[in-house]
Amino acid sequence: MGDSKTLENIDKPQTVDLDRCVHCGLCLNACPTYRELGVEMDSPRGRIYQMVQVSQGQPIGDSYREHIDLCLACRGCESACPSGVNYGRLVEAARAEIENNTERPWLSRTLRNFVFRKLLPSPTLLTAVGAALYVYQVSGLQKLMRASGMVRLLGPLGAREALAPSAQIPFFFRQIGQTYAPEGPRRFRVAMMAGCIANISFARLNEATVRVLRKNGCEVIIPANQTCCGALHVHAGIRDQARILAKQNIDAVLAAHAAGQIDAVITNAAGCGSTLKEYDELFEHDAEYLPKAKKFKSLMKDVTEFLASIELNRDMKPVDAIVTYQDSCHLAHGQKIRSAPRQLLRAIPGLKFKEMPLSDVCCGSAGIYNVLHTDLSMRILEKKMENVNRTQPQIIATANPGCMLQLEAGVRQWGKGERVVHVVELLDEAYT
Ligand code: SF4
Ligand code: SF4
Repeated sequence: MGDSKTLENIDKPQTVDLDRCVHCGLCLNACPTYRELGVEMDSPRGRIYQMVQVSQGQPIGDSYREHIDLCLACRGCESACPSGVNYGRLVEAARAEIENNTERPWLSRTLRNFVFRKLLPSPTLLTAVGAALYVYQVSGLQKLMRASGMVRLLGPLGAREALAPSAQIPFFFRQIGQTYAPEGPRRFRVAMMAGCIANISFARLNEATVRVLRKNGCEVIIPANQTCCGALHVHAGIRDQARILAKQNIDAVLAAHAAGQIDAVITNAAGCGSTLKEYDELFEHDAEYLPKAKKFKSLMKDVTEFLASIELNRDMKPVDAIVTYQDSCHLAHGQKIRSAPRQLLRAIPGLKFKEMPLSDVCCGSAGIYNVLHTDLSMRILEKKMENVNRTQPQIIATANPGCMLQLEAGVRQWGKGERVVHVVELLDEAYT
């Protein structure tokens, strides 16, 4: 590992990346925060301009922190930019520089340290929190809080309660370290990253993913010793902890690969996938881990990307419904994958696919953005739901658990009872 001075120089926007922006403004309309707020400093061009000023010596002030913080890191601007600006890399580096140069109040520091450094990497703590959440949900307390309006008395915390994921027992943690045989002859050997919170809140989605892969001739290994991917850490600028988690995941996967050739490492979470595919960016200074991170990256595939690249098992029953697809930002803009999920939806018999307007504009979920900036996130979600309602689907499919939670909240508030699912869950339905 390089010394801390090296890291300090790496964990901030690099001149070579900043210089790519020619300030043309062609990205402005693709930016949800600019569309909503109409403020140049909350546009990609405005944020890059502020990064340049800081790189030229202007001190990091509250205004800079706020404008960078309000960015969804959805990378919609990256797709719109004709100059190839890697905005995702820039905003993540800007947040790391802010994190390394900000003295937070004691409570905020303690809470951040607990969530990012203790809770997310720990299956034991996540299980304890998941169990408490489960009790809250099944004891009737949640219903009582919502029906009595007590949730509203909690103020901003009440709005966040509506966005909380549900706990699904049994949790998926018990499957970590297991290997599942393919149905029929083995065509591929894949490893699956199970996530962190997903083990609690998307345990059934993880199981559906394993089933669909097995139906397609995959032996599925859930590597032991894997942990949280660190995407939330990277987005929050906490890169030292992200590196610790990345090393653990790289070691876990490469150990499984050494034990028997793996064809692909699979994730069903587009947000995680983006970070997992960019692990090499965390180790640009690290001669030992850079080649390992590159090897890991070469194996990493989103589940839709993988399934669309193989000869799909077409032995499916019809799913008679109208479906639309919400692009997950980190799949469409981060990983440049747009056609694979649509191709899979079109492969399901009975399913009628209807494209929705502005399907690749962020829904406002953006990791924990909806929890930190609930008001703006809800304004963005309301616009998304207007486009959903215009399309009139029965099902909204997407490719990221965080987007699913956000869209479910949107359906509860502005929808027409649409079902929100992951693309893989529809395939699973068709196979069963
Ligand atoms: S990020 Fe790209 S599109 Fe946006 S102002 Fe810079 S060069 Fe133009
Ligand atoms: S990442 Fe998204 S919110 Fe941030 S500047 Fe780009 S388009 Fe706007």
